[in-house]
Amino acid sequence: MDFEYPPKVQALRRQLEAFMERYLLPYNAAWHQAVAQGVYPPPFIEDLKELARTEGLWNLFLPGLREDEPGTRLSNLEYAPLAEIMGRLPWASEVFNCSAPDTGNMELLHLFSTPEQNRQWLRPLLDGTIRSAFAMSEPDVASSDPTNLQTTMRHEGEQLVLNGRKWFITGAAHPACQLLIVMCRCGSEGNGANGNNASSAKHHQHSMVLVPMDTPGLTLVRNIPILQHHAPEGHCEILLRDVRVPASHLLGLEGEGFAMAQARLGPGRIHHCMRTIGQCELALALMCERTLERQAFGKHLSDFANVRDWIAESRLEIDQARLLVLRTAWLLDHHASRDSRIDVSAIKVVAARLQTRVVDRAVQVFGAMGLSPDTPLAWFWTWGRALHLLDGPDEVHLRAIARHELDRARENLGHLSAYFTTPEQLRAEPHIR
Ligand SMILES: Cc1cc2nc3c(=O)[nH]c(=O)nc-3n(C[C@H](O)[C@H](O)[C@H](O)COP(=O)(O)OP(=O)(O)OC[C@H]3O[C@@H](n4cnc5c(N)ncnc54)[C@H](O)[C@@H]3O)c2cc1C
Repeated sequence: MDFEYPPKVQALRRQLEAFMERYLLPYNAAWHQAVAQGVYPPPFIEDLKELARTEGLWNLFLPGLREDEPGTRLSNLEYAPLAEIMGRLPWASEVFNCSAPDTGNMELLHLFSTPEQNRQWLRPLLDGTIRSAFAMSEPDVASSDPTNLQTTMRHEGEQLVLNGRKWFITGAAHPACQLLIVMCRCGSEGNGANGNNASSAKHHQHSMVLVPMDTPGLTLVRNIPILQHHAPEGHCEILLRDVRVPASHLLGLEGEGFAMAQARLGPGRIHHCMRTIGQCELALALMCERTLERQAFGKHLSDFANVRDWIAESRLEIDQARLLVLRTAWLLDHHASRDSRIDVSAIKVVAARLQTRVVDRAVQVFGAMGLSPDTPLAWFWTWGRALHLLDGPDEVHLRAIARHELDRARENLGHLSAYFTTPEQLRAEPHIR
């Protein structure tokens, strides 16, 4: 087991850090100013994208890219430390064409699109000329259990007709967002080979449909703020009323939306966790700097024992989480998404807890300023709080982990008896083989 990043990744880290330092950080204030004035994305983003692509810092995330597709073909493990660096600046990922939810959507299209869908949607996404969104959650049902989803899809001649309401759809307000991947109920009770029992059928009733954002009947109702934060790319409520698309817009097989969502959510989920590590590293660095500069009651804040504990605990927690992120990335590289499911669930919970805990300490150290928009901390905390819910609430992941542990225990039931000692054994003649 080698804990050193390979030379190729070390070189890319240095290149990416230098690029961020030289080209992105000087624009940070301008980015916030433009967004505050309603200009989104700021005009310099396209120039930065072009520069990043020229330097080879483009599509860093997709291991399975073909030779004719633009990108670096890094494994998930190699991508992790780079996502960590991009995570420090919430708008950085777009410059390198590595933003959520596009990365997950590109993975999905890469796996399941037809040649025509590939040409129409995947290629422009890989080129960064369009953006996309993924619409699963609905206001009227508990969306943490996707078997509840009610948005319908019916066939009408050569068309698919969609009706329903989605919400918290990230990225849908981005002016370049042209594609909505909609998860909907197709009404079929499964397509034959997909199992006979009711529980299996429940997982074969949903399909994914590629819907252009300008399709008549699709209405962007509102961009929902997350706590007090207004994200310019949007977490949107979307109404679909008799939305008609050609039947060729079905992605993958009808009724297989669940299995496809699993494939999408593996790498997509872990990218959030990688960026979390970067945000927590920055929060810790800011916290340390502040404690060395600020004085209260005749001491630097760094001299208070509780503050030192917060710093130390944060370091321990970040390093533990990073190891789990890297291990999960490695598992995704070497096993099917399905077989890494439990590890992805684990890191998803760990990352959300890490982000709210570490950033909360940093906010406390900064005093009132920590709650203001003058530091990145308020946004990091807000995002951390959202991470406890998005891509599935913590409780659902914990349930999956517990179920997995209990299944393993059930398989081995009785195998641990040698660890017990009964009174009869203790009374018996010593018997050592
Ligand atoms: C910032 C943000 C961005 C998002 N982006 C997207 C997006 O791009 N696309 C999209 O489709 N959705 C998106 N979502 C929605 C997100 O995926 C859902 O909010 C999430 O799946 C939970 O669904 P729900 O809100 O309906 O909660 P519910 O399903 O109503 O659950 C509510 C609560 O019930 C409890 N609970 C549920 N199940 C269990 C269980 N098995 N055991 C114990 N307790 C349980 C949990 O405490 C849970 O938080 C986003 C959400 C946020 C906050």
